[in-house]
Amino acid sequence: KTMRSPDPAPSPTIYGKRLYTPLLFVVSAPSGAGKTSLCKEIARKSSWIHYSVSYTTRSPRPGEQNGIDYTFVTKDQFQEMQANNHFIESAEVYGNFYGTSLRTIEDSFSKGLDVLVDIDIQGAQKIRQSGIDNTSIYILPPSYAVLQERLALRGQDSLETVRKRLERVRQEIYAYQEYDYLIFNVDFQQAVNDLQSIIVSEHLRRQRLSSFVKDHFIEHFSGETIKSH
Ligand code: 5GP
Repeated sequence: KTMRSPDPAPSPTIYGKRLYTPLLFVVSAPSGAGKTSLCKEIARKSSWIHYSVSYTTRSPRPGEQNGIDYTFVTKDQFQEMQANNHFIESAEVYGNFYGTSLRTIEDSFSKGLDVLVDIDIQGAQKIRQSGIDNTSIYILPPSYAVLQERLALRGQDSLETVRKRLERVRQEIYAYQEYDYLIFNVDFQQAVNDLQSIIVSEHLRRQRLSSFVKDHFIEHFSGETIKSH
């Protein structure tokens, strides 16, 4: 009897081996679109994806853990890291600083892991401009009405704050035009499947497989005499 795999995610393998080049996936969304839960779920289901932990100068929210949700640093520490080129990109978002560590990405790549980064629109633009090969994905909330409801349900905030957030989301939505893929987060499970499909599809792009094809097919198929068994 075959055991069911504990990892239901379609792992990007050929002939049972991970033969692909690790890739960088950049995920952004307007607030309230459900981006963080989506990224966490993908990382939980797929052992071959490393969900990069960003550095931030904002203080932890209740329940957030240092080194898991973010690496929380002081403004001085952050600036020192910036000066030492520690970040592949960094940005100020709502008055706090956020940055993605270049070394973390390189370490994951060297282990053969894909990297998923959850960053804002400016961060995604910086990565695009840097010329680093990446695939960007924009998560859209189901509808304006649902978003309105979600932001209002977050509690604490005054109606005025909710109104300001909604106004900002209205502007942020336009950024969808800069991304390679869109995910409509209507049904969470479908959104997870969509993200997995995007990841697998990117690995299957011909350009990314040409050296694999050369090594494993072209050399074997060219000029070889057929052996009888
Ligand atoms: P929050 O403080 O709510 O966790 O995140 C606020 C915003 O900062 C989100 O849009 C999130 O995607 C973004 N963010 C988180 N980490 C990074 C990062 O390393 N770089 C950039 N540019 N944005 C980030």
